[in-house]
Amino acid sequence: MKRLLISVSIAALSACGAQDNSNDIEPDTVSAAETELLLPLPDQTSPAIVSEDLAIRIKTLADDTFEGRGPGTEAGEASADWIAAEMARIGLSPAGEDETFFQTVKMVNQTVDTENSHFQLTKPDGTALPLTPKENVVFWTKHQDKNELSFDATDVVFVGYGSVAPEYEWDDYAGEDFSGKTVIMLVNDPGFATGDPELFKGKAMTYYGRWTYKFEEAARQGATAAIIIHETEPASYGWDVVSNSWSGAQSDLVRSDGGADRAMLEGWITRDTAEELFASAGLDLEALKQQAKSNSFTPVPLEGVKASGKISQSIDQLESRNVVGKLTGKVTPDEYVLYTAHWDHLGKKSEEKTGAPGEDFYQDQIFNGAVDNATGSAALLEIAEAMAADDLERSALFLSVTLEESGLLGSAFYAENPLIPHSQVVAGINMDGALPIGRTKDMVVVGYGASELEDILRDVLVEQDRVIKP
Ligand SMILES: [Zn+2]
Repeated sequence: MKRLLISVSIAALSACGAQDNSNDIEPDTVSAAETELLLPLPDQTSPAIVSEDLAIRIKTLADDTFEGRGPGTEAGEASADWIAAEMARIGLSPAGEDETFFQTVKMVNQTVDTENSHFQLTKPDGTALPLTPKENVVFWTKHQDKNELSFDATDVVFVGYGSVAPEYEWDDYAGEDFSGKTVIMLVNDPGFATGDPELFKGKAMTYYGRWTYKFEEAARQGATAAIIIHETEPASYGWDVVSNSWSGAQSDLVRSDGGADRAMLEGWITRDTAEELFASAGLDLEALKQQAKSNSFTPVPLEGVKASGKISQSIDQLESRNVVGKLTGKVTPDEYVLYTAHWDHLGKKSEEKTGAPGEDFYQDQIFNGAVDNATGSAALLEIAEAMAADDLERSALFLSVTLEESGLLGSAFYAENPLIPHSQVVAGINMDGALPIGRTKDMVVVGYGASELEDILRDVLVEQDRVIKP
């Protein structure tokens, strides 16, 4: 989720020989994970990259048994155990802590008590904008050292895309002081809005366009609260994704400062709600969006609008794991190519089931995440299996990360705590969501323009009569 698509045909980059020799599996390597598995490993897969192998792993990882692979949950962590055991079975060596396939990731789950919490926007005439959690607003806090937080009657300022990008001579905050204020901003970046390839890499999303950045920047500016206006096209996902993702328990890494470096409250509101709010202050959101496309934009106060918030939350300390295995190269073993794919998904939703099994409208509570990201995890294993059957020049590291859905946290943890020094990693390829709809002529690269690996990929695609798309 929150990503564009990348096809598993990137496996072609591994340039493996894919000989049809069967894996010589020592039975005791399977027990390397030293955990009883909830679902069996495949009994036969081929070192060639084939759809049958991908299918069996996707099916297993998306099985109800793993309950949507929620990090820190018993069923979710069981899927990480399964991946580790599968890494062992296909011939990877453990690359985690204490000669295991795991890297422990300490995390917290924060759950807002919506009954006893609120985020309120008051219009200039003193009336409250109707805000109903999940329906048109979601909010939370990254402060993880307090159960109760509140603020009252802050000024509200529109800050365009909320970006400070010196390389584009861009500063949506224009050097003003935002301490004690609530900032409200647009999703994605000006490059997406204008399509200008010279600006924030055009349609390709930059880090400035991601919600993680926007909240981080708002905090750097000293804001008390930071709100993003949801719009489906620039977000690339609908409001349902926002409301599902940011309700119930929210996971985070354990923060050394308890979250003090973040705004007190973060959240999203719907576009319609934002329009009503702006109109109440005599502003036209669509006109402001036009202004926000230019680096001459300066922050626009919503005169007379005030924001207040109160959060009451529970905080649980948990552990999740990144799963990591490796293959050692024959020529330059100290050089690594890193393959990553997140194993986690959204777990279970809190709502009741609707309908009954077999009925058209039946919905259970499990977010199975077959596409996002059982496909990428299956591709990671399939590439690893192919490479294990080959003589590699470089070493390869296969990292299946946790807590992606909560904001790339497993990756962030690994980046801060690498198991192989970053200086020894020459390339990295992440896979998130392989297309389930069959072959395509174009292949989407997330973060297009950031890597010379694209030149290699382009050559591979040319041979397949295919093209790269940002
Ligand atoms: Zn994903």
